[in-house]
Amino acid sequence: MGPACRSSPETGDSSQRTHALLPLRVPFVSAWRSFVTFPLAVLSWRRNIAAMLAHSILALSLVIRIHDQYGVPHDHLAKARATAEAIMNAAGVAVTWPDCPCLSRVGSDELVIRIARAFPSAEPGSLGFSVLDIGQQAGTLATVFADRVQDLAALAEVDTGELMGRVIAHEIAHLLVGTRGHAPDGLMRAEWKASELIRQRPSDWLLSRDDGIRIRQAVRRRSHAATALTIVDADPAPDVSAQ
Ligand SMILES: [Zn+2]
Repeated sequence: MGPACRSSPETGDSSQRTHALLPLRVPFVSAWRSFVTFPLAVLSWRRNIAAMLAHSILALSLVIRIHDQYGVPHDHLAKARATAEAIMNAAGVAVTWPDCPCLSRVGSDELVIRIARAFPSAEPGSLGFSVLDIGQQAGTLATVFADRVQDLAALAEVDTGELMGRVIAHEIAHLLVGTRGHAPDGLMRAEWKASELIRQRPSDWLLSRDDGIRIRQAVRRRSHAATALTIVDADPAPDVSAQ
């Protein structure tokens, strides 16, 4: 059943440089100080780099409009937003949620998630779908079937809002990456089983490292397009009186 996809957890790496950078011949006390202070310097350096990277990465941001045509309880919707946002944050993208319905034109750095009841022609078992332009490898609108999410959450006895947030994050990834492809595991897997919901394994609900890279690239492209569009829109109107 299911809409979604998933990914594999990222793995960290460690560095081992202390021996190579220590002086070859130094008095004992100096050597001891070097041994103590060097790791502290490394830790401080790592903290600074990590903070810089976090700031740089989360400078990528996306606007997501939620159009709730179903009438999802407020607390479920809040949990869904928080869950989807946490998944996107883990992939290096900040998310903002304007109050909707919003009638203004949808920007290139915005996505629309419609929450609705599954319609009769919907693919059986699907929890949602995204409308994609395969040629452009991008999409703007996705739909999440609230009634099916509720049914699956009840079956697995898990939080409805959290499950809805995971479905939203899955569809966001489709819209950004612009493909219908799925992964064998993680958030972008094609089928979500009740047993997987019950076991609550964190890696089942994360985007893969590769997905994260593609998503950040897509958000960057969309942000640049939005900036270019803003500049075009800012052009002065033709001076009719000069004709
Ligand atoms: Zn999917």
